[in-house]
Amino acid sequence: MAGQIPLSMPDITQAEIDAVVDVLRSGRLSIGPRQARFEELVAHAAGRNHGVAVSSGTAGLHLALLALGVGPGDQVITTPFSFIASANVILYVGATPVFVDIDPVSLNLDPEKLESAINEKTKAIIAVEVFGNPTHMDEIERIAARHEVPLVEDGCEALGGKLGSRCVGSFGRVGVFGFYPNKQITTGEGGMIVTDDDVLAERCRALRNQGRAQNNPAAESITDEGSWLHHEHLGYNYRLSELAAAMGIVQMERLDDILARRREVACMYFDKLMDYPEIILPTIPDEASMSWFVFVVRLSNPFTVKQRERIITGLRRHDVGSSNYFPPIHLQPPYRQRFNFQTGDFLIAESLAQRTLALPFYNKLDATQIELVCLTLRIMLDREKLTMDSVEEN
Ligand SMILES: *Cc1c(COP(=O)(O)O)cnc(C)c1O
Repeated sequence: MAGQIPLSMPDITQAEIDAVVDVLRSGRLSIGPRQARFEELVAHAAGRNHGVAVSSGTAGLHLALLALGVGPGDQVITTPFSFIASANVILYVGATPVFVDIDPVSLNLDPEKLESAINEKTKAIIAVEVFGNPTHMDEIERIAARHEVPLVEDGCEALGGKLGSRCVGSFGRVGVFGFYPNKQITTGEGGMIVTDDDVLAERCRALRNQGRAQNNPAAESITDEGSWLHHEHLGYNYRLSELAAAMGIVQMERLDDILARRREVACMYFDKLMDYPEIILPTIPDEASMSWFVFVVRLSNPFTVKQRERIITGLRRHDVGSSNYFPPIHLQPPYRQRFNFQTGDFLIAESLAQRTLALPFYNKLDATQIELVCLTLRIMLDREKLTMDSVEEN
């Protein structure tokens, strides 16, 4: 539809298209020079020595846990307020997720509640920079270090952000990024593991490539341990194609511009929505340099879940994309059923999740479109306020 303003939209220029066409013409479609270059660029942006490109952010988190040796009987601490992949990988390796409630301002795992959840079974902590906000990652890193528990930084929503002088991706033992089309940069599907740990990086490289000790498909020997059909470990095919890597290189070269543009879009929203008393805007601490992933606002307290759903439906009906980022993970069927989680187990995550509202957010959004989004939202809010008033009168 011509007038549609979607929730997100990738930003692909002629340069990405040319780069992908070059790969097609080169004949080398996997395990080639683009993968290595893309790995360098992302590792550098995260302030890390190694980048290991993988087929998705989820694959990256999965391999990070495997490479850390997390398995059945182990516990992994994480947040209930995130995209479900950050907890699913704990189930993939047969470990048990232990959720810790969030801080109501940053929406990230609450460091104050983290320490008491750590015990002798805790084999890792997966902390997420929700919506791109890196707040508390330094405190979480200190707590993890004090207890000698490896920290996995799920930076899938925060590429290019900083906390003080520290890059997102540089916290803890290992960080992971994702490049699905709604992220800051995209490769269609893709992900990246970043770490300073040589051994961990090597393990991840082997695991993404069917457990091979090396990458070389043209290996001469058919008997040596380095040969293409020798598999040191039980591995996976989590490789990233050269087409995707080529796209990623161009997107990384544009990263500063992309982040600056997203900051502008966020500023326009702040300007417009500052005058909406019904809307709670995101809180960005001074020491954080945000890498804006999405623009999620919250409805103020009197609004109910039903009203939030009606507002989302109403926005969509007017061709304005909107969504409820994120329903709490512990209440999703695979978790609720298996671990018997109940409503009320993580009160802060639950109560915040009831009133979140993601608005359209992408590089090309212009002032007119933002005006239109905010006006449509105004109408939906007013309509809900009318029904609230009439309930009060009854
Ligand atoms: C996007 C995302 C991922 C990874 O997603 P993929 O679609 O597998 O690339 C992981 N964690 C969080 C918090 C995310 O937002």
